[in-house]
Amino acid sequence: MLKGLAVSPGIGVGKAFVYVEAGLDYSRVEPQGEEAELARLAGAKASFLRDSEALAKSLKEAGNVREGDMIEGHMVLLEDDFLAEEMEKAVKEGKSAEAAAAAGCAAVAELFRQVDDEMIRARAADMFAIRDRLLKILLGVESQDLSAVPEGSVFVTGDLTPYMATGLKRGNVEAIVTETGGMTSHSAILARAMGIPAVMGIPGLLGVVKAGQTLAVDGAAGEVVVFPPREVLDDYLGRQKKWRESKAALLVYKDRRTKDKDGGERLVCANIASVGEAELALEQGCEGVGLFRTEMLFMDRESPPSEDEQAAAYRKASEIMAWRELIIRTMDIGGDKQVPYLHLPQEPNPFLGYRAVRFCLAEPELFKVQLRAIFRAAAGRGNVKIMIPFVTGPEEIEGVRGIAEGLKRDLASEGAAFNPDVPLGIMVETPAAVQLADALAARAAFFSIGTNDLTQYTLAADRMNTRVDYLYSHYHPAVLRSVERVVAAAKAAGIPVGMCGEAAGSPGLVPLYLAFGLDEWSVNPGSVLATRKAIAGWSVSEAREVAARAMALSTTKEVKAYLEGVVAQRG
Ligand code: PEP
Ligand code: MG
Repeated sequence: MLKGLAVSPGIGVGKAFVYVEAGLDYSRVEPQGEEAELARLAGAKASFLRDSEALAKSLKEAGNVREGDMIEGHMVLLEDDFLAEEMEKAVKEGKSAEAAAAAGCAAVAELFRQVDDEMIRARAADMFAIRDRLLKILLGVESQDLSAVPEGSVFVTGDLTPYMATGLKRGNVEAIVTETGGMTSHSAILARAMGIPAVMGIPGLLGVVKAGQTLAVDGAAGEVVVFPPREVLDDYLGRQKKWRESKAALLVYKDRRTKDKDGGERLVCANIASVGEAELALEQGCEGVGLFRTEMLFMDRESPPSEDEQAAAYRKASEIMAWRELIIRTMDIGGDKQVPYLHLPQEPNPFLGYRAVRFCLAEPELFKVQLRAIFRAAAGRGNVKIMIPFVTGPEEIEGVRGIAEGLKRDLASEGAAFNPDVPLGIMVETPAAVQLADALAARAAFFSIGTNDLTQYTLAADRMNTRVDYLYSHYHPAVLRSVERVVAAAKAAGIPVGMCGEAAGSPGLVPLYLAFGLDEWSVNPGSVLATRKAIAGWSVSEAREVAARAMALSTTKEVKAYLEGVVAQRG
């Protein structure tokens, strides 16, 4: 059995479809003379540019703006004069077009590597990607066609790129297994959003698995069995059947509004990190987006997205959501979300440091670009809201409001189309915000409780440190009392209150949150239906009874055992 990271839950059994990049050996290519090789190079460049243009366009149309930009960046690099000169020089020295392409790209990559700027050094990798595509064209090597992955496949590859993830036919893929990739990688997020079981980060995977072998994958346990013996296979197939049945049973909740047992309306929304995920979330039956993590638009690239690019992304997400709400969280950069090109200072305690709204208020240039993009994207639309992360006091809300008002005046004097009435709400994810919830509620249009951070700061337990994960629990009475208090403060002020941390996806906590009066649960797209079902199972009076007992307990263990027991008893 192979062990990896459990990135997307579910059971998948199927035949391995092993996707490896074809070899690009050109050592046996005989140069056909200067003129012929230069013509081959010119032909390859033309075909590269043609394909790239079409690919960038289709990626952008599908909402994958960042990937589209990367392809356009490669087109610019390919047209660089220095690269052209280096390739021509190599051909004139008697090399084949392939060898010249490799030599030219290597020369440019070397130049990039010598620059004392991390961002430019990273471009060396782009030159190798360009080299490989040129070699493929020259050698006539076809990439495997992803749409040809047959039904019943387990997709096995080294590193699942976003291209692959978006190119796969979802219905044909039982599971995804990769050599690299982590829990929060873009591909992992996509696999989860697509509802495909996935295990990532299995070193040496491609040396072990052969195409066509049967694989049994448990995405929740992070386990992959190669060539399972009969009894193991039967066990996986049995569990797969149950998993599918429970997924199918949830489908009745897809086109329903969220209501508790008394018919009281609530909302189940989705957390997304890209425009592409908005589409997937809607397919999963969400009633809006309760958290759009925009910092992902700033990561894995070399410069920040422009105002127009951001406005296009937010507009597209807003249109996909139609009348449903779209809560755009302003950049939550810092802490675990580092953006190298911003050159933020190294800090001994980044989680307690210069991050999120602190950075946005101290160096507002980038923040202003984002806010302008949001106001413009919201022109003529009523579903967009702005949410500030990591608030610790009212002055931060006022600071943001001051900047926003100035920007609206600028936009008006420029005659730009924009929406001046985008509601401004906050995330409640620090103990200070809990203590000051009444003062904050007087200044915010809505609250969304970020239990991921609130749990970490309340319990002083790093959310990423496995040594203290015995402490890190959303069931801790201190965390639950905080949530209760925040919801009460929002109710008293008459503003809506949601939750967008992972705790919102725990069925065991549903009765408590219902009893407190939470209005909105925002969860991973794959958990939307299960959450709607869990809410439908409780009347407010039943939930209050359970909450009264749970809130009288004083340890995480007792609370968890009691609530999980109650949920299990009800089936
Ligand atoms: C949270 O802290 O609960 C949250 C939703 O934000 P993030 O996980 O992006 O920090
Ligand atoms: Mg947070």
